[in-house]
Amino acid sequence: MTQAQHPQSASHAAPHPAASAARSQELFDRARALIPGGVNSPVRAFGAVGGTPRFIDHAQGAHLVDVDGNEFVDLIGSWGPMILGHAHPEVVEAVRAAAAKGFSFGTPSAAEVELAQAIADRVDPVDEVRLVNSGTEATMSAIRLARGVTGRSKIVKFAGCYHGHVDALLAAAGSGLATFSLPDTPGVTGASAADTIVLPYNDQQALAAAFAEHGADIACVITEASPGNMGVVPPRDGFTNAIRRITAEHGALMVSDEVMTGFRVSAAGWYGWEVEREGYPHGPADLFTFGKVMGGGFPAAAFGGRREVMEHLAPAGPVYQAGTLSGNPVASAAGLATLRLTTELDVYSHLERAADVLRGEVAQALTAASVPHTIQSANSMFSVFFTEDEVRDYEDARAQDTAAHAAFFTSMLESGIHLPPSAFEAWFLSYAHTDEVLERIAAALPAAAAAAAAAGTGEPSRG
Ligand SMILES: *Cc1c(COP(=O)(O)O)cnc(C)c1O
Repeated sequence: MTQAQHPQSASHAAPHPAASAARSQELFDRARALIPGGVNSPVRAFGAVGGTPRFIDHAQGAHLVDVDGNEFVDLIGSWGPMILGHAHPEVVEAVRAAAAKGFSFGTPSAAEVELAQAIADRVDPVDEVRLVNSGTEATMSAIRLARGVTGRSKIVKFAGCYHGHVDALLAAAGSGLATFSLPDTPGVTGASAADTIVLPYNDQQALAAAFAEHGADIACVITEASPGNMGVVPPRDGFTNAIRRITAEHGALMVSDEVMTGFRVSAAGWYGWEVEREGYPHGPADLFTFGKVMGGGFPAAAFGGRREVMEHLAPAGPVYQAGTLSGNPVASAAGLATLRLTTELDVYSHLERAADVLRGEVAQALTAASVPHTIQSANSMFSVFFTEDEVRDYEDARAQDTAAHAAFFTSMLESGIHLPPSAFEAWFLSYAHTDEVLERIAAALPAAAAAAAAAGTGEPSRG
């Protein structure tokens, strides 16, 4: 069947039990003999929650359908990109039209200019943009650029912030590493981690102390604009400004990683959301990284910033950076169509309302079952922590009850709701999460809350 034959298929509000996972299990068994751990990105293996990862056959709107024919409400959204829902007809058409004109030229093309323009138009401090293929490449290149511009070697990152699998940034990272509690990874040399200073998030004193000691050697501070890879842990009042002030004072650059938040929490990402509230008296970041939404589900990402900084990149300047498929015309077409529709359809106010409704339902169900929880948000992006205390940093995030999360996740999956299979991830909504879809999620919550209550130890499960 083609995807077109599954228009928004499940509109019934009743939970819809996922009957069999036989074909997914069969594929997973085959995959484990061919692909390490059976997956191409660790968190997909369900290691933290147990059970069989579902192999998805197709997706439409807010729904995934697996190879056994089970349908799920999708709250992963490909970890952020699918902000319009899956296979939005206008994006499908843009991709079809671009593909018909050829897949990749290795020459400049118009779509790259349009996509760079769309990004620069939305995010004020971005004058110039370089397109790449993944968020990892974007942060890796931004760090190289910061080092090239400043002639300094050290970088500062925050524990629990994930910036892709860049060697120098795999110290105390969140995301899959949070799930698997790897403090570090073999294969990253002492030398490439030695120039990375890791600080607790939201800790202005630690930041000041690091600059007091190493200020003259620090090329940049990289931070998630509003962290989402240890669960959602927004910057406390003044924290973003503190990073900006101290980096400027010491001649270091500030890199704001908006790979997750960019074009999701507002049309101008976290930058747009926060600048209205905090005013940024010391100015915005020097460099921004983007990915996820701007690729519309295709491998496209970017970094960009002030012209004087970006002009250090080859061939305008001496800092080398390149890519055979960078600015790919099909990926660019998908990204452009997605960005255009987010504003045309006013996707952001839809997401804000849907997030409000869902947060209320989740809080009600967990409270009714006496499950300790805290819901934290970066506007419409939110996550549910199984702990009753505010989560300000990675240590707080790791103090949650992951056994309660695993039971909650499994019950939701059995009711046909596919949450991210990790306690350290945001729940991703889309424009296709209509009231009917939200009702279907709500109907599954009481059983999941009861399962979490039964499994919860009430104790933190660090590591
Ligand atoms: C997803 C993510 C990345 C990495 O992007 P990939 O495309 O997976 O390489 C980097 N930074 C943040 C904040 C992310 O959420």
